[in-house]
Amino acid sequence: MMDWKLPRQGACRCGRVKITVSAAPLVTMACHCTGCQKMSSSAYSLSAAIPAEGFAVTEGEPVIGGLHGADAHHYFCSHCMSWMFTKAEGMDWFVNVRPTLLEGAGDFAPYIETWVGEKLPFAETGAVKSYEALPPMEDYEGLMKEFREWG
Ligand SMILES: [Zn+2]
Ligand SMILES: [Zn+2]
Repeated sequence: MMDWKLPRQGACRCGRVKITVSAAPLVTMACHCTGCQKMSSSAYSLSAAIPAEGFAVTEGEPVIGGLHGADAHHYFCSHCMSWMFTKAEGMDWFVNVRPTLLEGAGDFAPYIETWVGEKLPFAETGAVKSYEALPPMEDYEGLMKEFREWG
C-alpha cells in the first residue's frame, strides 16, 4: 500500500490556480489517445482519478478548454493554459487530475494505459495494464482493487 502523503498541494505552471488532493487516487492512468497527445502537446497524458470529495480548487478560477462538448469538461488555467483536470459528464464522483501538477509527481506512476491503439511508436509509460482503447466498464471495480494493492 502506497503512502499518498495527503493532502498534496498542486498548481498550474504560473501558480495562479492552486489545487489540493486529500484522498488517495482510485487508479492512475496514462492515455495515448490522439486527443490527449494534442492537449498535452506530448506523447500521452497522465491522470490520477481522485474521489470528488478529495479534490478542491483552493485558489484561482479554472476555465473550460480542450473539447467544449457535453461529454468531458477539460479545465485549464486561464493565464498559463495548463491543462489541470477533467470531469466526465455523468461521472461526478471522481475528477481526473493531472498528477504532474502535484508535489511529488513521481509517486503517480500510471497503473493502466489506455488507447494503446493510438500510441506513438516510441511512447513507453511502464504501466502494468494496457488497453487497446478504454477498459470495459465492468473491469473498473477490479482495477481499483488491484491498484490499491499495487505499489
Ligand atoms: Zn496558470
Ligand atoms: Zn486520452
